[in-house]
Amino acid sequence: MTNTFPSPVPLPSPAAAIDLSGRTALVTGGGSGIGHACVLALVQAGADVHVVDRDGAAAKAVAEITGGAAHVVDLADAGAVDLLPSEVDILVNNAGLQHVAPLTEFPTERFELIQKVMVTAPFLLMRRVLPHMYAQGWGRIVNVSSVHGLRASAYKSAYVAAKHALEGLSKVAAIEGAPHGVTSNCVSPGYVRTPLVEGQVRDQAAAHDISERDVLSNVMLARSPVKRLLEPEEVAAAVLWLCGPHAGYLTGASLPLDGGWTAG
Ligand code: NAD
Repeated sequence: MTNTFPSPVPLPSPAAAIDLSGRTALVTGGGSGIGHACVLALVQAGADVHVVDRDGAAAKAVAEITGGAAHVVDLADAGAVDLLPSEVDILVNNAGLQHVAPLTEFPTERFELIQKVMVTAPFLLMRRVLPHMYAQGWGRIVNVSSVHGLRASAYKSAYVAAKHALEGLSKVAAIEGAPHGVTSNCVSPGYVRTPLVEGQVRDQAAAHDISERDVLSNVMLARSPVKRLLEPEEVAAAVLWLCGPHAGYLTGASLPLDGGWTAG
């Protein structure tokens, strides 16, 4: 039978390893946690990776292990973000921070900082790298959002606002990028075993005067049917898959890696 509509996209076997050789990636917050795991996964798939982090020692250590380039940048500084490389095929917007306080006491400067790092910097980076992606007709943007991009929790006004904004920004990039072969998606994890969460477990144990084990089971994992923390490598595997050849039709989506939290 003749195929009336032959596929314009030649695809390898779905069982083949993802090959990103010849591709250049930029990962923000690549010095720690999820970003670190993403850098390793992308490098193992053959990509050249720019590791961006404000923590110079961490960024340089990761870049040294992976053979990537370290960029010591505070993403709250729009001028510095505008000097980052623009010839990037894969952008992973991952850097983030948390501040926990009731709305009535939330410090304005912390709120603004969180929006700068987690919304404005991803916007500036998209604006910077999209012309290169459009020119070559291929690009991948993966935004590390959170279950808090889809659901709210008390005391996390800045973080929840920023992640919801990132989800919206990602969808706009998906719609504008589609005619140019560029996809944009979010991965939206529940609690991941990283320094960011380890700090929260310690803080909450002290605040509620309960054990760290009780914070995990009674507070953090209370809404997750899967009763364990997610591993950074599990997030990196999803990010890598979104950069692979079989993910070209998946765009504007938010992939919940939340142990079933948002299913409830
Ligand atoms: P992490 O603290 O281990 O790593 C975050 C990295 O971002 C650090 O290396 C830090 O130096 C960098 N960073 C922070 N502010 C920066 C700035 N102004 N400029 C440059 N770099 C900066 O955290 P993580 O848990 O790996 O989190 C990574 C992303 O995943 C964040 O966006 C976070 O919101 C998201 N996330 C984390 C979890 C979790 O449970 N850990 C869950 C859902 C989403």
